[in-house]
Amino acid sequence: MTKIVEIGNVKIGGGLPVAIQSMCNTKTSDIEATVKQINELEKAGCEIIRVAVPDMEAAKAIGDIKKEINIPLVADIHFDYKLAIESAKGGVDKLRINPGNIGARENVEAVANICKEKNIPIRIGVNGGSVDRKKFPILNEESLVLSGMEQVKVLESMGFYNIVLSIKSSSVPLMIKAYELASRVCDYPLHLGVTEAGLRDVGMIKSAVGIGTLLNKGIGDTIRVSLTDDPVEEIYAAREILSCLELRKDPFTFVSCPTCGRTQIDLVGLANKVYNYLRKNPPKKHITVAVMGCVVNGPGEAKEADIGIAGGKGTGAIFKQGEFVRTVKESEMFSELVKEIEKL
Ligand code: SF4
Repeated sequence: MTKIVEIGNVKIGGGLPVAIQSMCNTKTSDIEATVKQINELEKAGCEIIRVAVPDMEAAKAIGDIKKEINIPLVADIHFDYKLAIESAKGGVDKLRINPGNIGARENVEAVANICKEKNIPIRIGVNGGSVDRKKFPILNEESLVLSGMEQVKVLESMGFYNIVLSIKSSSVPLMIKAYELASRVCDYPLHLGVTEAGLRDVGMIKSAVGIGTLLNKGIGDTIRVSLTDDPVEEIYAAREILSCLELRKDPFTFVSCPTCGRTQIDLVGLANKVYNYLRKNPPKKHITVAVMGCVVNGPGEAKEADIGIAGGKGTGAIFKQGEFVRTVKESEMFSELVKEIEKL
């Protein structure tokens, strides 16, 4: 069992629910754009948000951003300890910084001291690219974890234990092995992710396999799905991973058939429209919605759902909680289905 760490008003570790994170892709110094994106991400289900702090202008924006948002804010800092101190003064809820890349011990101590005073946790993040290859010529799970633990020990030597650890890799098997090892050698909460996972579709699959495998073994306290896409997609993907593993219930379960030679409606178009509608308008209580292509397997699945539709020849039969409701024309399928969802 990992330790519990408080990130603003969100606690992670100790078997608490796994928290979903993302990272803004706005300029942090553009306060208006950053706040807008954070609030959109929160609406999608983001529970902890990170921003890049590459310069003093960004660090000074932290305080103003904090005033306009509800979820905990994490400052991502490399090299300059003064940016960490300024972010801490601005009320940031967590720092992502590696002691090893901010120079002299006194600089690290200055960061550790202000974090202690303000109860700000520090995430140490190691990935394949940050391992010192002179010290660890072979990149494997041991070198990743040893690199992370070296950073941890620097903070521990200053009496600082409010730590979260990430050991990421773009290789799924390597990140799985590294997190498994990390979970055996330390009890700090683990932030899971496949780094540089790529474009949306491939990135989601890599993340689902990597993060999902670990969560299924009880490893991991917070997750970020890294995608080369709008960060809101990261949140939807993270929610889907947690929902598939039944670690939390999403507002809806969406079922749709793969289509085949029996399909006589534009099922792919309909399924996309219904799914996007549900994402943008999450039901207040959990429902299952089924969009099926024909009368062979369709009615059975549609009847199992709270709301379902089974396509016919240019028509669709709507089912609600197991009962046939009515048949509608193809052009009306989406709007009629939405009407029934809203009535629930
Ligand atoms: Fe084919 Fe019907 Fe099954 Fe869809 S539900 S894959 S259309 S048999």
